[in-house]
This record gives sequence, structure tokens and C-alpha cells, in this order.
Amino acid sequence: MFRDNDPILSTPASILHEVFGYESFRGPQQAIVEHVIGGGDALVLMPTGGGKSLCYQIPAIAQHRAGRGVTVVVSPLIALMHDQVGALREAGIEADFLNSTLSGEEANAVEKRLLRGEITLLYAAPERITTPRFLAQLESLHERGQLALFAIDEAHCVSQWGHDFRPEYRALAVLHERFGGVPRIALTATADDITREDIVTHLKLEGAQRFISSFDRPNIRYTLVEKKDATQQLLRFIQREHDGDAGIVYCQSRKRVEEIAQTLCQQGLDALPYHAGLDAGVRQRHQDRFLRDDGVVMVATIAFGMGIDKPDVRFVAHLDLPKNIEGYYQETGRAGRDGLPADAWMAYGLQDVVNQRRMIDESPAGEEFKQVLRGKLDALLALAEATDCRRVRLLAYFGEASQPCGNCDNCLEAPAVWDGTDAARKLLSTIYRVQQQSGISFGAGHIMDILRGKATEKVAQFGHERISTFGLAADLSEQQLRGVLRQLIATGALAVNSEAFNTLQLTEGSRAVLKGEQPVMLRESVSQPGGRVRNRDK
Ligand code: ADP
Ligand code: ZN
Repeated sequence: MFRDNDPILSTPASILHEVFGYESFRGPQQAIVEHVIGGGDALVLMPTGGGKSLCYQIPAIAQHRAGRGVTVVVSPLIALMHDQVGALREAGIEADFLNSTLSGEEANAVEKRLLRGEITLLYAAPERITTPRFLAQLESLHERGQLALFAIDEAHCVSQWGHDFRPEYRALAVLHERFGGVPRIALTATADDITREDIVTHLKLEGAQRFISSFDRPNIRYTLVEKKDATQQLLRFIQREHDGDAGIVYCQSRKRVEEIAQTLCQQGLDALPYHAGLDAGVRQRHQDRFLRDDGVVMVATIAFGMGIDKPDVRFVAHLDLPKNIEGYYQETGRAGRDGLPADAWMAYGLQDVVNQRRMIDESPAGEEFKQVLRGKLDALLALAEATDCRRVRLLAYFGEASQPCGNCDNCLEAPAVWDGTDAARKLLSTIYRVQQQSGISFGAGHIMDILRGKATEKVAQFGHERISTFGLAADLSEQQLRGVLRQLIATGALAVNSEAFNTLQLTEGSRAVLKGEQPVMLRESVSQPGGRVRNRDK
């Protein structure tokens, strides 16, 4: 018989086989494990489902078996801790957690076990780890050479630019300051440049080796459609492509979550709502059903998902625009963790853009911060409006060059595009003329009425039928004009002033379009004036 601390059972490969039952390491796992066991710091960027946990669990087990003590895992979510600890215990590993669900007595018992060196992996929330009491306990372990490793999971929580900012993460710099010799491994699935540098700066990981995996999820097919009747579009999508499949539908507000869940149920789907306004017991029940039963559709706000490891989620749908590409990628990444084909489907519209911009404008944040948020929203819009490969765009955003994928809506069917430059110029010049004539600005609805030559009360009231562009775009539908507007807003050639009733304002960027120097190309689906459609490939 082998003894638990027999060296042959303590190599990374043997731990992988014996404890986890896996044949071989995946991607960079082996290099990471060896680097960390060798005492180096590491920054691990791997997409959701890539296998981050083993990168610190295997070193933790190896070090504990070698008599080097405990690995402390920082984790932001209680549910996540419980899942991981449960799975490790099932595999026969001494894992524990310290969080607010434990009674004082239970927490004391865990601390005793910790100090006696019985625990291999201890999961704890950041606010717990940085208390003086806990730091003193770590100090005493450290003095005895019994502090093997710190693992900081979901490390992007340290960045305020991300979608999951948790100020407590900032205090984790203390781990470097007080326990300089103890290696640290920070892990995240969020990888844009700003977040990456934030992690390095705030966690003091300047010396860490970076392990950056490809973020490509080839089995996920990306589709972004223009919103017409979002609920009907969603229903058609699910009924046609995912009848009976498990999926997640993300909505922005609690109210909408409730409405959509109800509509889906009325249509015979097994849908459940999930948002932070629901009772904790109800949330737990719905989550359990989603995980346990087949074919449940979870309609949720972004409160749902982090730490949910359900391999066979076949689709993730967005009925409202996420805040940025990181959020979108994280959320869609929950589809197809088993590697089988899955869909990321989103419906987006002009109102989404206006709402998101308003939320940014009205937030109490400083101007510089708001600028970053606006830039991130623009990047997402550019993705939504793209006429070329979605995956190339997405990966480029994460700093990865790639070739057209053949598995996104644009690749599978080259979108017909039309030249919207002329319509865009008419729109901008109408906004300019109306402003000149009336001395005030107007919203999108009124500007479009003028262009389409509609004799509304408001048009009469302001004498706007005398504007020279009145009726000049009578051949375009409101839908088509909205598409042009969205492009202009997305590219900054037009601004929406949320301080003044969402009126449209020309910007510096308007000039190039007005002069015809900047073409405005649109997707056929967005706006398709008769006879002017031309397919890119033809
Ligand atoms: P992440 O935290 O990066 O989202 P996980 O660590 O939860 O990913 O791993 C995702 C899934 O892949 C899990 O079910 C895990 O057990 C499995 N997995 C990880 N590494 C391997 C491996 N080397 N071989 C087989 N399966 C693996
Ligand atoms: Zn593609």
C-alpha cells in the first residue's frame, strides 16, 4: 500500500490521476502547476471552463503532502466555496472554508484544524482573510513554515473597470507585504488589458509569470440580432434551435426577468426566474432545479451565474445589452462547457444603448471613469454592428489575433450590407438645421419624423415642414433610420444628451460623416431600403 505522503503519489501527474481521475493536463495546466510548486508567483488568464481550479489545487495537495502546510484560497462567493470544498472532500482531500455561514463555534473548529496543520486547502472570503485575527493565525503558520500558497480566484474582482468590482480584493496586497516569500497564484477569466494591469498593480504581482490561454471557445456560435420584438425573437430562437435544452436568458431588470420567465412558461417552456430581489430560499430552489433537472431555462439578471458549473448549458441569450465585452464574454462563456455545440445569442437595440449611456452619465463616478465605461460600451456596440467575423472581433478585444471562424452568424451567412452614408448625412444635417432654426435640440423620434416627412403636431408647432430635409428620407422606415442612428451613436458621430430629454447632439465626429469622408456601412437586417441591398460577397 502507498502511504498518503509517499513521494510517488505526490507528483503533479499522479495527483491528477489519483485524486481527480483525469488522464492528462489540459493546455498550460502542467506548466502552471510546476511553476507554482517551484515557488513562483503566477497570473493565470484562462476562459471560463478552461480548468483553472486544478492549477492551484494540485500544487496545494503536493505541498501539503510534502509537509509544507496549507494553501489559502481567496474566493468571492460562498456558493463557489461550498461547491469546491464539497468536491474536494469527495475526492478525499482535507478542504474547509471560513465564511459567514459558519457559527462562531464551527469557525473556531476550522481554525483549530488549520493551526494543527490538518487542512490542505482553506477557502475564505477576502474580507475574512484580511482581518487582524486571521492574519495573526497566518503569521503563526508562516513562522512554522506551514503556509504553502495563496490562490486568488476571480482576481478581476480587484479591478473597478470590470463587472465584478469588490473593494475587499484591494486589501489582499497585504498578503504580499506580510508573507513575501509565500507564492501567490491569481486566476481570472477576464482578460482585457486594463483589468490585467489592475490585477498586477493592486495585488503586487509585478514579478508573476503570466500564463495566458487562448480565449477562444470554438464550440460557441455567436449570433447578434437586431431587436424587433425581443420576446418573440427569443421564443423563436429557443423553439427552433433549443427545444428542451438547458439555457440561461439574461435580462437587465428584475421586472423583465419576471415577465420573460412568465411568457416562456406560458409557451410551455420550463423557465424559472432568478434575481437578487427573490427570497434566498426561492433562489436556491431555482438554482438547484437548473443544475439538477434537464432542460430548465433560467431567466436571470447577472446576479446568476458566477460559480455555476453546469457543463451542458446549450445556450446563453441576452435580451438586453450587457455593460461591456468582458461581461458578455463571461456570461456567454457559461454555455457549452462540455465542449459540445452551444449558442450565444443576443438581441440588441437603440433603446439599450440609450439606457446604458444614461446609466453611465447619471452614475456618481468621475468623468475619467465614465469615459472608460463609455469606451467599453462602444466596443460592445461595434461588435454588435460588425459585419465581419464576431469571433475575430471578440478575440481581438482580448489581444488575440485569429482568422474568420466559420461558426458565427456573420461567417455562416455573410450579412448583406448597404451604404448608409447618404441617410446618415441627411440625419446629421436635419439635426443641425433644426437646432439652427429652433435654437433647441430634439430627440430621435422627432428628427426621424421630419426626415420621413410626417406632418405630426410637433412638426407643425415648430414649422419643421419648412426644414429643407423634410421628407428627404421618405423611402426609409423608422426601423432603418434607427439603424443609421445607432451606427452614428456607436461610432461617436452623434451624441445623446441624457441631461436634456435624450436629445441628439452633433459631435466633433459628425463632421467627417457630414462631409462624406466617413462612410457608414450598415447591416441589411438593420436597415434595408429597397433595391439598394448589396451582398458583400457578390
Ligand atoms: P474554470 O474555473 O476555469 O472555469 P474549472 O476549473 O471549473 O474551470 O474546470 C472546468 C471543467 O473542466 C471541470 O469540470 C473540471 O473538472 C474539468 N477539467 C479541468 N482540468 C481537466 C483536465 N486536465 N482533464 C479533464 N477535465 C478537466
Ligand atoms: Zn466568425
